[in-house]
Amino acid sequence: MNSSNEKHGPANGRDLYDCIVIGAGPAGLSASLFLARYLHRTLTFHHNSPRNEYAHGIHGFLGHDGIRPGELLARGRDEVTSYGGLIIEACVTAVEAVSPEHFRVFIGDDERVFDARRLLLATGLRDLTLSCPGFREFYGSSVFHCPDCDGYEVRDKRVAVLVNGDNAAGFTTNLLTWTRDITLLTDRSEISDSDRETLATLNVPIRTEAVAGLEGDQSTRQLERVLFSEGEPLECEALFFNLGTKLATNFHETLGCRLDVDSGLVWVDETRQTSVEGVYAAGDMTPFSQLAVVAAAEGAMAAIHIHRSLSGKS
Ligand SMILES: Cc1cc2nc3c(=O)[nH]c(=O)nc-3n(C[C@H](O)[C@H](O)[C@H](O)COP(=O)(O)OP(=O)(O)OC[C@H]3O[C@@H](n4cnc5c(N)ncnc54)[C@H](O)[C@@H]3O)c2cc1C
Repeated sequence: MNSSNEKHGPANGRDLYDCIVIGAGPAGLSASLFLARYLHRTLTFHHNSPRNEYAHGIHGFLGHDGIRPGELLARGRDEVTSYGGLIIEACVTAVEAVSPEHFRVFIGDDERVFDARRLLLATGLRDLTLSCPGFREFYGSSVFHCPDCDGYEVRDKRVAVLVNGDNAAGFTTNLLTWTRDITLLTDRSEISDSDRETLATLNVPIRTEAVAGLEGDQSTRQLERVLFSEGEPLECEALFFNLGTKLATNFHETLGCRLDVDSGLVWVDETRQTSVEGVYAAGDMTPFSQLAVVAAAEGAMAAIHIHRSLSGKS
C-alpha cells in the first residue's frame, strides 16, 4: 500500500495539504468552505453518493428549504473551489495515521497517495432500506425514513410505518404530530407488549404480515398501497421506515477512533476532534441530529477548530 521509507513526511515531492476532508456532503463541503477561506491548503474527496441522493428535496435548511440535494451540493462544490479548495471525485480506499501531524489517504484501484496535517472524516451514514419491489421507485418522494425531514409532507394523509426493532411506538408517535391515520407494519418482526399497549391506546392498527412490495403511480413517484405476503393490500399515501443505519466507511476503525457508547457513532469532543489527535469528524457519522443543516454546522465547527490547531491557537 505504501512504502515504509515515508514515515517522516511525504516523499517523491508530494504535496502536504493542511487538511484532507473525506466526504463532500453538507458536513464535508461546509468544512472545506471554511478551511479554504482560512487560506488552508484543503483537499476534499467524494464519490458522489450522499446519503440523501434519493430525496426529492431538503426540507428545513434555512434559506434553501426544498432545494434538490444535488443542487445544494453542486453549489457548495462551486463555493469551495472558488476559494481555491481542491475537490477530487474519487473513492478513498484507505487511510493511515503516520503521526499526529501527518495522515495519509489512498484512493482508487491504483492506490494514489495524498498527505495532510489534519484529517476530517465526513463520510456519513448508510440507511438500511427495504429490499422489496417498488421501494426504489418511491423512496425520497412518498417513502421516507425521517419524520423531522418529511413529516410535514404527510399531514392528514394515510401513512404506513415500518419499524423493525424496539422503537415501534416511539417512531410512530412522532408521526402523530402530522396525521392520525397511521398503520404500523412489523414485517414479521417482534414487537414488545408495552409498544402494543401504547399503540392500542393511540388507535394505531398493527399489520404483522411480511411486506411483499410497494405499488403506485411510478410517473409521479406516488405510493398508493403496500402489498403483503398474505391478506389484503393496505391503501396508503406514504410510508415511513426505520430499519437502522450503519457508518458508511470504517476509516475510524483503522485510525483507532473510539465510538460513542450510546449511539454507536464516532465520538467527538467539543472541538469535533475524535479520540485520535489530528483526526476530526462531522455530520451524520457523529452523534446527535441527522439533518443536512446540522451536518453543515458541524462541518463549520470542525473547520474552525482545525484552523485553530493548525495555527497553534488551541
Ligand atoms: C431520503 C433522505 C431524505 C432526507 N431529507 C432530509 C431533509 O429533508 N432535511 C434534512 O435536513 N436532512 C435530510 N436528510 C438527512 C441528510 O441528508 C443528512 O443529514 C446529510 O446528508 C448528512 O450530511 P453528511 O455530510 O454528514 O453525509 P452525506 O450527505 O451522506 O455525505 C457523505 C459524503 O461522503 C462521501 N463518501 C463516503 N464514503 C466515501 C469514500 N470512501 N471516499 C470518498 N468519499 C466518500 C460521499 O460521496 C458523500 O459525499 C435526508 C436523508 C435521506 C436519506
